[in-house]
Amino acid sequence: MKVNIIGGGVSGLTLGCYLQMYGFRTEIFEKNKVPGGLCASWKRGGYTFDASIHWILGSGEGSAFYKLWSQLLDMKSVEFVTHETCLEIELKNSQDKYGNNIFRLYTDICRLEKYLLDIAPEDRRSIKRVVTLIRTMQKYEMPPMVCEIPELQTFRQKLKMVRYLPFVWQYLKWASVTNMQFARRLRNPFLKEAFELLFDGEEVNLLVTTMPLAFYDKKSAGYPIGGSARFADRFADRYMQLGGKINYNRDVSRVIVENGRAMALEFSDGSLAESDMTISTVDWHFTVYKALGGEFINSSIEKLASLKVLQLYPSVLMVSLGVAKTFKDFPHFFRFPLSRPYLSPDGTVYERLEVHIYNYDPTFAPEGKTSVTMSFFTRNGAFWIDLRNSDRELYDRYKSDLAANMIDELDKKFGDIKANLEVTDVATPATYHRYTGNWQGSAQGWFPGNNLMAQSPVGIDLPGLKEFYYTGQWSMPGGGLPSVLKASHDLAQKLMLKYKS
Ligand SMILES: Cc1cc2nc3c(=O)[nH]c(=O)nc-3n(C[C@H](O)[C@H](O)[C@H](O)COP(=O)(O)OP(=O)(O)OC[C@H]3O[C@@H](n4cnc5c(N)ncnc54)[C@H](O)[C@@H]3O)c2cc1C
Repeated sequence: MKVNIIGGGVSGLTLGCYLQMYGFRTEIFEKNKVPGGLCASWKRGGYTFDASIHWILGSGEGSAFYKLWSQLLDMKSVEFVTHETCLEIELKNSQDKYGNNIFRLYTDICRLEKYLLDIAPEDRRSIKRVVTLIRTMQKYEMPPMVCEIPELQTFRQKLKMVRYLPFVWQYLKWASVTNMQFARRLRNPFLKEAFELLFDGEEVNLLVTTMPLAFYDKKSAGYPIGGSARFADRFADRYMQLGGKINYNRDVSRVIVENGRAMALEFSDGSLAESDMTISTVDWHFTVYKALGGEFINSSIEKLASLKVLQLYPSVLMVSLGVAKTFKDFPHFFRFPLSRPYLSPDGTVYERLEVHIYNYDPTFAPEGKTSVTMSFFTRNGAFWIDLRNSDRELYDRYKSDLAANMIDELDKKFGDIKANLEVTDVATPATYHRYTGNWQGSAQGWFPGNNLMAQSPVGIDLPGLKEFYYTGQWSMPGGGLPSVLKASHDLAQKLMLKYKS
């Protein structure tokens, strides 16, 4: 059975690997000249800049996702770095009892607990509760039975789910608690401000922090040396070893449907590729409304498309710098208040700067030099996409203005930046959109709502359309590499059951 896969991001590549393993004959069609999609890095003047991976769940043995990654990669050959802190935040208004204004979110839970209890003994009860949640999460394989979809689980396996009851109890207690609500429970002003700023001022479910912490502590939320492109290349290599074929520079414009059945892909140059089955792993909105012309929808899909069910995950502006300087003792991921708020032309006001210092990946810069990236999230990606189309000069001017302002701020904070600056590179939501086609440049698909366990609103198929399937970062709110791996794995198993057994 011949399967055409649209998109050579990590979704398309991992799906292709699984389908090849299950005996399907697949081809991937990717519009860029390299694999990986959002999981990208690029070189400028001897420096490597990275669009994606800060950490991936399942980097260490013993976790459920490690089992999945290991089905496709030799995980032992990937060198992962586990950081001492996930994030360090310089607070604006409060100091701890030692006069420090930097909050450190340690990845070692014992150390984190000791640190929190020391700086905020009055919040002992709340701190202990969070630690109990993390410790409970660590006792269970998350997600449970990662290697088998429910249809393949035995009765015995299903029965074992009873053991998850203490986890479910903890989960239910925390299911709707956000960082802001938790902050309101705290009495210590330093800790209160730190929790308010965990997501740079956004209100997000606290599980989005505690869940990775459970993995970090187990050394299973590491960063792969070599960065995103190197990581994605590994899947492309594996896919080809399994007999798959990747066609680069093949921009799919349409899925050709006859009698309610997906028959072929049409490319921007007018050529066609026929198949028995088509699977899209690219942007959900493009797939449904452009490639399929909006013909296979229902009211649930319409609600999703009008953003009534979920919001888009913000897009991002990235100012990347190549600096001829080592940042040996600097935190790798740091947020600090700007000297004055910066009003972006897209209307977003930035009060803090988030900086990522790649002082732990020697492959990113020549010796003695460092790649540094500043990220600015925006919910108005459309502004940058439209502006790049309508007024390229103004678009370039806005990019330069952002870079100049933020380089100034970084120079004030760290010193010696401007004097050692060798390369500047600015990516905007227009860059993300142009490169990957993601809706409004969304960085990770849908923004997760409060119910993190909610079923995905994006199904694997579309009403009235046969021999067509969908998977990708839009299949699970929050996206991310482990999610797309799991979604590819599950879809491949479903197809194996349907067509091969
Ligand atoms: C700033 C940022 C930070 C992130 N940090 C992390 C992190 O730390 N950890 C983590 O796990 N995840 C992270 N992610 C998320 C992760 O990178 C994505 O969720 C994941 O890479 C999405 O993979 P995908 O294959 O589903 O989608 P995509 O990467 O979007 O892949 C889609 C592919 O389809 C191709 N395509 C699109 N349209 C067409 C067409 N018409 N014809 C042919 N090909 C087409 C695109 O070129 C692309 O290659 C981050 C993302 C961003 C942007």
